[in-house]
Amino acid sequence: MIIAKTIEALNEAKKSLKGNTIGFVPTMGALHQGHLSLLQRAREENEHLIVSIFVNPTQFLEGEDLDAYPRKEAADIEICERAGVDIVFMPNNDVMYEEDELCIGAPAVRGYILEGEKRPGHFDGMLQVVMKLLHLSSATHAYFGKKDAQQLALITQMVKNYFMDVQIVPCEIVRDEKGLALSSRNVYLKDDEKERALSLSDSLKCATKLVMAGELDVEIIKKEMLKVLDKADKVEYVAIVNREFKALKQVEIGNTIILVAAWVGKPRLIDNLWI
Ligand code: AMP
Repeated sequence: MIIAKTIEALNEAKKSLKGNTIGFVPTMGALHQGHLSLLQRAREENEHLIVSIFVNPTQFLEGEDLDAYPRKEAADIEICERAGVDIVFMPNNDVMYEEDELCIGAPAVRGYILEGEKRPGHFDGMLQVVMKLLHLSSATHAYFGKKDAQQLALITQMVKNYFMDVQIVPCEIVRDEKGLALSSRNVYLKDDEKERALSLSDSLKCATKLVMAGELDVEIIKKEMLKVLDKADKVEYVAIVNREFKALKQVEIGNTIILVAAWVGKPRLIDNLWI
């Protein structure tokens, strides 16, 4: 496995990849089983595998946890090695950015609702770095978690709008045994908060039950979910949208995403369910 910290080192390392398919998994590190599931799938489906580890400053808003974001470089490298990664790209900020950059922006509607409304500018920074990383990796296939559903939708749109020659592969959400969606930010949760954090996945389980019982009315489902989410410190949103992220009045089986965002203790958590 080659660890590349500069663009030159990455390009040099890519010369050793002789196959036709490159799977790519961009991450911000502090790797967990969720990341690992992406790595494993990308490993299986491609001749080569590149992973990036970069805590991208441009997608953090003023006052967010950029400095405190968990960093576990040595453990991450070991996980990548074991997962059969060919190249780990670990640049620093200066490698990725210059001072006065040309930027791409998130779309006016889908980029500024839900996560985009609560974190205005987050998706601009996210798309900026993903665009760079997709070019740098020369990926044929890039793997993203459904955990970040809106991110996945916007990246898919960017690839389409900019005619980029890479296939975006959505991957299932990995959860712990109790249902909590794995996240690098879960390390911030204290024991009692871990229990209360389950209210996010529990609210989605509640929605599943209702839908399975034939309840499709979005307002009724949201109301029941909010009761379960009572244990969170602050609910930022509960939304029921179609796969285009347009609000729904009725759940459409096969075309619906239910999303929640809430604060529990220090971290702001997100989770979702695709129906
Ligand atoms: P991050 O390091 O948080 O930027 O995440 C890197 C990639 O891993 C993104 O595509 C995430 O959606 C994905 N990911 C994070 N957590 C999970 C999870 N629990 N299950 C599946 N994918 C995940």
